[in-house]
Amino acid sequence: MPRRVIIVDHDDDDVIIDMRDRRQARTPRGAEESKVSPPSTPPLRRSDRNALSFTPRICNLIELRAESSFRVNQPDFEIIYALSGSDSNLPDTFHHFASEQVVEDARPDTVTPLVSGIVDLIKRERDGGTPPQLIVVNHTHPAPGNIPRPSSNDERFFRSAGEVLRDQFPGVTVVFGVHAISGESIRRREPPSRSEPNCLRWTSVIREHEVAFFTPDGGVHPVEYHE
Ligand SMILES: [Zn+2]
Repeated sequence: MPRRVIIVDHDDDDVIIDMRDRRQARTPRGAEESKVSPPSTPPLRRSDRNALSFTPRICNLIELRAESSFRVNQPDFEIIYALSGSDSNLPDTFHHFASEQVVEDARPDTVTPLVSGIVDLIKRERDGGTPPQLIVVNHTHPAPGNIPRPSSNDERFFRSAGEVLRDQFPGVTVVFGVHAISGESIRRREPPSRSEPNCLRWTSVIREHEVAFFTPDGGVHPVEYHE
């Protein structure tokens, strides 16, 4: 039997509670001042071996994927996609999950992925069948409710899917991303930059994108952007 996980989002109360819990859980003692600091965050050392490394090419691919899911006069739907890499922090392959093999159902506030389908597709699509050292599974949070934070149900999915992926690909680094995408309006393009140590933000000519990364147990996973 394929494992089935349902993500339910966009319950406003849940999102607010999740954010409060996350701050309480992750703010180290004595670091309260950081909440009132300017929005810029201290740069991570480039030698941070754990940080995901995102390039313009990867950002373009995920921007295109997220924006291509929208249709005129229809509500914005959640989608799921993945990246994998031969290096534990450098994504090199994009996986476009648009088939029933991976997505059973997609609605404005729900996406229902089959983790077994994700595993099969990654195995099939990796060049030469080399096992990945990195898997990043992202899902979108379209507007309204386009907040790059996981809901409590997302966090349950991270844990269960993380277990399956690490079982199927021994030694792999598994990261989950929440890709918040705004509604459509005419904008000036802004290149990607870090809005948080684990979050990249940029603007296309029509939508704002913010993608935050988390470990399977819900901790933050740092990211860097390299031109
Ligand atoms: Zn979600």
